[in-house]
Amino acid sequence: MGLLSEGSPLSWEETRQYADHIRKHGIKQFINIYHKLKDRTNDQLKWGDEIEYIMVHFDDASQRAQLLLKAHEVLPKLQHKEHEAIEKGENVQLHSLWRPEYADYMIEGTPGQPYGSYLHCFNQVENNMRRRRHEAQKMLDANSAVITFTAFPRLGCPDFTFPSAKTDPIDGVSRSLFFPDEAIFPGHPRFSTLTRNIRQRRGKKVAINVPAFIDKKTPRPLVEDYIPLGDDGEAKRAAKPDHIYMDAMGFGMGCCCLQVTFQACNIDEGRFLYDQLTALCPILLSVSAAAPIFRGHLADVDCRWSVISGSVDDRTDEERGVEPLKAARFRIPKSRYDSVDCYISPMGERYNDIKMVVDEDLLKEMVDNGIDRQLALHMAHLFVRDPVSVFSEKINQDDENETDHFENLQSTNWQTMRFKPPPPNSPIGWRVEFRPMEIQMTDFENAAFVVFIVLLTRVIVSFQLNFLIPMSKVEENMKEAQKRDAARQGRFHFRKDIVAGTTESPSCKKCARPSKDEYTQMSINEIFNGIPGVFPGLIPLIKDYLKDVDLDVDTSCTLQTYLRFMRKKASGELQTTARWLRDFVEQHADYKQDGVVSEKINYDLMKACEAVARGDVFDPKLHIKRVRPPGQDQDAELSDDDLLNGQ
Ligand code: GLU
Ligand code: MG
Repeated sequence: MGLLSEGSPLSWEETRQYADHIRKHGIKQFINIYHKLKDRTNDQLKWGDEIEYIMVHFDDASQRAQLLLKAHEVLPKLQHKEHEAIEKGENVQLHSLWRPEYADYMIEGTPGQPYGSYLHCFNQVENNMRRRRHEAQKMLDANSAVITFTAFPRLGCPDFTFPSAKTDPIDGVSRSLFFPDEAIFPGHPRFSTLTRNIRQRRGKKVAINVPAFIDKKTPRPLVEDYIPLGDDGEAKRAAKPDHIYMDAMGFGMGCCCLQVTFQACNIDEGRFLYDQLTALCPILLSVSAAAPIFRGHLADVDCRWSVISGSVDDRTDEERGVEPLKAARFRIPKSRYDSVDCYISPMGERYNDIKMVVDEDLLKEMVDNGIDRQLALHMAHLFVRDPVSVFSEKINQDDENETDHFENLQSTNWQTMRFKPPPPNSPIGWRVEFRPMEIQMTDFENAAFVVFIVLLTRVIVSFQLNFLIPMSKVEENMKEAQKRDAARQGRFHFRKDIVAGTTESPSCKKCARPSKDEYTQMSINEIFNGIPGVFPGLIPLIKDYLKDVDLDVDTSCTLQTYLRFMRKKASGELQTTARWLRDFVEQHADYKQDGVVSEKINYDLMKACEAVARGDVFDPKLHIKRVRPPGQDQDAELSDDDLLNGQ
């Protein structure tokens, strides 16, 4: 979830006194990195995925599934080999690396080494994910499972953790009525410090209100009494009727996602890819939608996005525009976890139509020091935030060789994309991180999503594709993407001509505002699979690209399988995970048509997810059979358009 500095965390009162210092030195550090590394080039295309897992404890006797608070025990074991290698100064090839996440029921795993540019690495992705899952699963007893699941359905319901833990609405770091502090990862102070400081900066608890799914028997208006949970009136004021109310960082940062980081060959390619992928974020969010239930209630959204966004919203009333601006420096339209507000490549400039809040002094500092205005705007926008987690040992830094202050703000701006400068004195190049996707239940699905997006970046770079539309339209797409069943029913703004090339942009065009003719509205199916004679579609473009590259049989079959899966996922032949979960709940014998996901439903659902992930159950609504190389058992029927090199 970000920078893990060692040391003693400061209180919010102390932290705020260093805010200017940290911003000023953070930007100095960025200017230094930029000048040292702006001409760095010829880095290889490397990439890696990040998977976040939850750990679930099953009590079969009482038919209950709870989140297992054990990351503090499990992680040191998972990290043992890595730590040993670091201590001995050895260069050991590990197949996975493990990191803490926000909650004590979460862990995060990545491949031990980044993948390279050879296409046959696509054969390893799923295997690596499977081994990771195995490795983590081995740390748990037979009653518990490592599951890739975006938002645990009963997170925040009474006794949702194992062992059970009490909330502390008076002295707790989050003061939540629902999410106990024990569920926060205790092994690093970053997580509880962020929780407390975000709340204190805001001046009250975070307040998340997700529209509830109103079923036939949902009581209307849907309102809850929070007094028995210890509410002093804050929850009553903050909760909206007919919504699912949540009051802690853990409701969002306790969700899991699937991220992919790419190393670009140089800064320009990084900026180009950042922009192109920015326009695709809502599209991939929608097709990966996997979070239709919060705090034991079906929601009227399919995604985690708005929940995490609200869960770390540290803006004061003035900044949010609820009160007139007096003490605050700015009105800030969005939370620190939200979608990107500006493109950063030269070709993206004319599509930047969102008014951005920026720190003018820092902007000037960057521009005066030779950073182009557009990149400087991006950073000056991220740097309107205050630091929310500072360690006393890290306050005075060597700005030439350290980057903690820069990383402090960079890593607490959780946007759909992240543009990452190389760490100082390291072999790593300029990178971009693709962050919107929700995690799927199986390694197969996660591998398919990851491989799809990696392939797409290659196609974007090779064919110089252009997906840019005005940023305000990307923003509208983000809203559309989260709606219930948007993957099937949503209409998304999308660029009409994506293959016209990106390099030659006549100077008059460069400065002209984009015209409405450049984009239209499409469904997810049309975007992925194309509209005959009108729009090529992402999957056919990938297939075109693959026709011209040398593929061995194994890789070809792997890619055919994944692309076929993505094609069906986009066309609606396969369900989104969100739809599958909704159907499971709605068809459960215990479901009372009131939106409530009971203990028993939750237990059966988690058991079903575990069985699906283990491969014990093959559900044709979610999965497809694999394409096998000729001679091996064919467990899939091949249609003409499955054949990459064919038609
Ligand atoms: N778990 C967060 C999410 O679902 C991401 C945290 C991170 O940046 O690693 O988006
Ligand atoms: Mg993470």
